Order: sequence, then structure tokens, then C-alpha cells
Amino acid sequence: MSTNPNHNATLYRPHLPTELTPKFGAYGGRFVPETLLPALAALEEAYRAFCLDARLQDEFHRLLHTYVGRPTPISHARRLSTRLGGAQIYLKREDLAHTGAHKINNALGQALLARAMGKHRVIAETGAGQHGVATASAAALLDLECVVYMGVVDIARQQPNVQRMELLGAEVRPVSSGSQTLKDAVNEAIRDWVTNVNSTYYLLGSALGPHPYPSIVRNFQAVIGIEAREQIITQTGRLPDECIACVGGGSNAIGLFQAFRNDLQVRLVGVEAGGEGIASGRHAARFSDPGLGRPGVLQGTYTYVLQDKDGQISATHSISAGLDYAAVGPEHAFLRETGRAEYTFVDDRQALEAFQLLAQTEGILPALESAHAVAEAVRRAPGMRPDQILLVNLSGRGDKDLDTVRKALKSSLEKE
Ligand SMILES: *Cc1c(COP(=O)(O)O)cnc(C)c1O
Repeated sequence: MSTNPNHNATLYRPHLPTELTPKFGAYGGRFVPETLLPALAALEEAYRAFCLDARLQDEFHRLLHTYVGRPTPISHARRLSTRLGGAQIYLKREDLAHTGAHKINNALGQALLARAMGKHRVIAETGAGQHGVATASAAALLDLECVVYMGVVDIARQQPNVQRMELLGAEVRPVSSGSQTLKDAVNEAIRDWVTNVNSTYYLLGSALGPHPYPSIVRNFQAVIGIEAREQIITQTGRLPDECIACVGGGSNAIGLFQAFRNDLQVRLVGVEAGGEGIASGRHAARFSDPGLGRPGVLQGTYTYVLQDKDGQISATHSISAGLDYAAVGPEHAFLRETGRAEYTFVDDRQALEAFQLLAQTEGILPALESAHAVAEAVRRAPGMRPDQILLVNLSGRGDKDLDTVRKALKSSLEKE
């Protein structure tokens, strides 16, 4: 036992938002089989109780501090900024969070919620394996059984993460239907949930899915922006001019944007995966391809989805597995429509260049997802003044991508 009577009191106390938003303008909502409606209502109620429970909140904050390693710092990318000759670039270092990315913030929060609901089993879906690893870690920590659904194609190309999940005590269930990738794994996870809804908690990995998931994930990831806003003011005495984050499902971006939403002078910039270019059709730029990207329902929510003219979901491509998805979080569709945030894309080659540039100027290997946000900063900085600030969310570290990067660099050398 601790001898310190205040062992529960940590100085680390970010003030996380708790609001649940059923719809973001026309987007969001709940498009699920009727059998799941009571489970979603129970989740909503449990989340509200979780937010009001002082003991659970203490435990959550303590674990964010002592297990995840929060607050993560912001770093001034001095050599990169000097090289580009314009704005000062600051990096929010989610790559330094336990398991190597922001995903643990949400996985830990939801695992605590699952335990508070009396569930002993959590299920998750994963594409690249990052959300699976975060979920398996949180489940081990909180003594929950963990099953992760993963397409067999992804299992083959993400072996290190499959091994991590298994070593963490999770069961990885291969999914061989459809394209054998993330969207098929999501379908299997939902099927499992429908069947085992009483014993099982579905731990969703991004700001997607039916209400209340997009709000819950946003609120857990809002810790990124809350810390970053305070840190940038402390370090520079002012707000950034622009906040830049990559957008897969959109959780790290919405988590950064949230704290700056009412600072109307701060531009919010989301970066999607341009893959091999918009014209190629091989990308995941839901907002930037007027031919394929338009509103529709996918996996329980109404949002921008890449689809053909008959509404069949398009195959997507990105060098970064975490951005390679046909749907974007519904709140981003709303932020774009209202003009509060703007969205752009970076292609595979630009992301790869930004990866190398950051590595060689700052000694940081970013995740390929995060390299998309860095690439956008590299594009913008030279046109700005040296007293201006770009705040980039470095959502994860690049160790998981070494194989992909080496192969891509080799094949681009061979082409030249
Ligand atoms: C999963 C992942 C992403 C994309 O997911 P979002 O929900 O859009 O944040 C981005 N960066 C890293 C490092 C990831 O692991």
C-alpha cells in the first residue's frame, strides 16, 4: 500500500470535454441493426456516469500520467523550420505515448468504461494493428479478455503487430471475407457484438461509427489539444497560426482541433491520404475526389464515403495503413461544411519525403500517417513569416513503418 495519503491525487488533471453530440449537422447518427440500439443507449448512459464518477476519473488521469506517459511534450522543430525558411514548426509528440501513438488515449478510456459497465470481454477491429495493440495493452492492464478482428491480408502485411497483440494476451481472429482488410474486420466485430452484446464491449478505434462513439472518442482524444494549447502558449506566449493533423478516421485530428475550435484566428487543417494521386483513383481522400467521395452510410454513421456511382464502397490505397479507409469521421464532414476546418491531401511520395526530412533534421522517425501532416507543414511553412507558428500533431512513431519505407525508397531508386 502507498504510504502517501494523497496517492490518488495527481497534479495531472486535464479538463476533458464530456458532451455527447448525436448529429454533426446532417452527419453522424445511428445506422445499426435494431438489436444494437439498447447497447448504444447503455453505452451513452455508462459514459455519462463515468464522467461524473470522481474515483474513476482519478484512476483515468493517474493512468494517463503514469502508464501512457502524459503529458506528451511539444518540440520546436528548429532545424526543420530553419531549413524551410518560414514559419516555426512545433510538434505535438504523441509518438512518445505508450505503444507509440495517440490510440492508447482512447483505448485506455474505453477499456475503463468497459470495466465500469461490468463487461469482461472487449472486441476491436484493426487494420494496421495499431488500434489492436493499444486495445490489447489496455485490456491486459485492466484484466479484460480481448479479441481483435483483422483481415487476413492485413495479418500477412502487419506481422510484428500481430505478434505484439498475441504476446499481450489478445486473440487475433483472421477475417477472410470480402477484401480481407479493415472494413471486413469491422463487419465481423459488429457481428460478434450483436451476438454477445451482454458480455462484450466493442472498443472502437477512431472518431467513427454510430452515436455515441464519435463523441466518446473525440472527448478522450481531446487531451491532445488541451495539453498542446497550454504548452504552446507557455513556450511561445501565443496561439499557433495553424494546427495540422492527418485524418484517417479522424481521431487524432479531432482531438487536436477540439481545444482550438473557439480560437477563430487559428486555422485547422486536416490532411488525407492522396495515395498515388487523385486522378489514379488509388487514394483515401474522401473530401478531395468529387468523383468518388460523397455522403453515404458506412459502418453505422452518415458521412463522406468513397463509393462508386452505385454506392459500392471503393477500394482505397495509402502508403500508410492508418489513413487507408473509405469513410471519415462525421464531425470532420461537419467542420468542413461549416468552413471551420479545411482539408487537403498529401500523396505517398510527399509523405515519404517528409518522413526522411524530419528524420534527418530533427532525429525523429514519424509514423507514415503523421508524415502526411509534416508534409503539409513543409508545403506551407516557406510562404509564412518566421514569427508565425505551425502546430503539427505527430500522431505516432515510425518504427512500425521501417519495412514499408525501405521498400518504397528502394523501388523509387530503381525507377530513377
Ligand atoms: C491509426 C493512426 C492514425 C489514423 O487514425 P485517426 O483516427 O485518423 O487519428 C494516424 N496516425 C497514427 C500514428 C495511427 O496509428
